[in-house]
Amino acid sequence: MAVPKKKTSKSRRNMRRSHHALTGDAIVECPECGEPTRPHHICASCGSYHDRQVIVDTAEV
Ligand SMILES: [Zn+2]
Repeated sequence: MAVPKKKTSKSRRNMRRSHHALTGDAIVECPECGEPTRPHHICASCGSYHDRQVIVDTAEV
């Protein structure tokens, strides 16, 4: 089994982990209703995507 020859120092370990931070979820404002939604997804509150009504509430019609 391959074994590291030298102990990884705290500095080197932390330098390696400098890229491991998580970023928050991307949130955009819906242009139709102004609710915060995920980009490139249908708006959950009004059902529109790219200036088009994608989800139509049939119970209302
Ligand atoms: Zn919306």
